[in-house]
Amino acid sequence: MKQFDAIIIGAGPAGGECARALSKIGHNVLLVEKEKDFSARDFSSGGSTLEVLKDFDLPESVVGAYCRKIQIASSDDQHCWKGSEPVALVLDFQKLRTYLAEEITNHQGQVLLGWTYKGHEKKDGVTIVSLKNGSSGVIQTFQTRVLVDATGSERKVLEKGKSKQEAIVGTGIEFLVEVPEHIYQIYAETLAFYIGQKWMPQGYAWIFPMKPNHLKVGVGRNFPQEKAVPHEKSFRYYLDHLIATCLKTSDLLILDQHGKTISYTLRQHDRYFDQNILAIGDAVSTVNPLTFEGIRHALKSGRIAAAQIKRFLNGRSRSFQAYPSEMRRYSGFHWMISERLTLKIYRQADDEKVSLMLQALKRLSLKELKGLVFYYQLNAAMKFYIAYLTLLAKHAFRRSKRRG
Ligand SMILES: Cc1cc2nc3c(=O)[nH]c(=O)nc-3n(C[C@H](O)[C@H](O)[C@H](O)COP(=O)(O)OP(=O)(O)OC[C@H]3O[C@@H](n4cnc5c(N)ncnc54)[C@H](O)[C@@H]3O)c2cc1C
Repeated sequence: MKQFDAIIIGAGPAGGECARALSKIGHNVLLVEKEKDFSARDFSSGGSTLEVLKDFDLPESVVGAYCRKIQIASSDDQHCWKGSEPVALVLDFQKLRTYLAEEITNHQGQVLLGWTYKGHEKKDGVTIVSLKNGSSGVIQTFQTRVLVDATGSERKVLEKGKSKQEAIVGTGIEFLVEVPEHIYQIYAETLAFYIGQKWMPQGYAWIFPMKPNHLKVGVGRNFPQEKAVPHEKSFRYYLDHLIATCLKTSDLLILDQHGKTISYTLRQHDRYFDQNILAIGDAVSTVNPLTFEGIRHALKSGRIAAAQIKRFLNGRSRSFQAYPSEMRRYSGFHWMISERLTLKIYRQADDEKVSLMLQALKRLSLKELKGLVFYYQLNAAMKFYIAYLTLLAKHAFRRSKRRG
């Protein structure tokens, strides 16, 4: 039976980065992915910050497009924040995961695609992992000192079979479309978001550039605890509506359709480890509950976990006790602010009030908007929320005056 220092299940950004970091320092790792190749389930839109490249030592080749504008539209209004330089980028999710896997094999690590984790057992102090080949059905077993659950919100290893915690659940579906040049140019450098009942009740829609003449168009909806806002039509209805209203063309080719449901446990009350097994990425709710941006945070959790695994394998620490607090230091406070805003913003069923939210956002500079949507900064959140409450009060006053 082959032996590894660490077996990592799931080759998303979290698993890929964790395995890459460990293989770079000479550890013998195996990364396992159930899909046969990275073109399958290329579900993530890839919107991220410019710093992601430098912070995670990623090449330009994983970037789909750079954006210098952020546009937000409500049901009856819209606003665009423009910079002279790029303010964000769109990652190519397939290229990102392929690059991480290649880095692992370049550093003598192993990557198995098309193999599904089936279970593990502990025998005489060693952990034995069973994997099943998706094509042949063959089951193989491997021995490891550390096992990592990087299976995303599917949480297939550490929390398998556990009852569901209180969660914010978000479902998104997206098309990759090829459009004529003149349509592409409208969105080429823009992260465009659409909020309000017309676009997607209790959620938002988006259009991101991917590469010349290719756009990602999607809709996503949150289910914070209970279904607060009526949602009578299908996801597909809202996606078709977005395409018809914004792209306004029948000359459009749908190249790929994908979607996924992500579940974020409230207050990130997930299990982070159990003896020599750790969970990383969306398996421990690293996705931000306000924006559902998760790639950067999954990469970061892969890095944090790799540092802890290194200490464990080198005998400098006997447990993963420090890992949850390291993770909370990164995300805890900002995710708490995001949770609060999420529960307020996405439950708003009144379109007039959603438009007031956009009016409040308009008071933020581009820097402050970035601070809110990418860095979950308290000062930007407060400025937005105070402006929104003031507008709400004025709106209520006007309404009561009209009635009286
Ligand atoms: C529609 C949509 C749009 C999004 N857009 C953005 C965006 O614009 N920007 C952004 O930053 N984030 C976005 N996200 C969120 C982001 O993609 C995730 O937060 C991120 O991918 C999480 O990374 P991960 O590695 O933890 O999990 P995942 O990326 O989910 O990876 C988990 C991997 O584990 C594999 N796996 C599962 N079970 C098994 C098993 N039993 N055996 C072997 N392998 C297994 C899966 O196939 C998968 O490849 C979006 C999400 C959705 C659904």
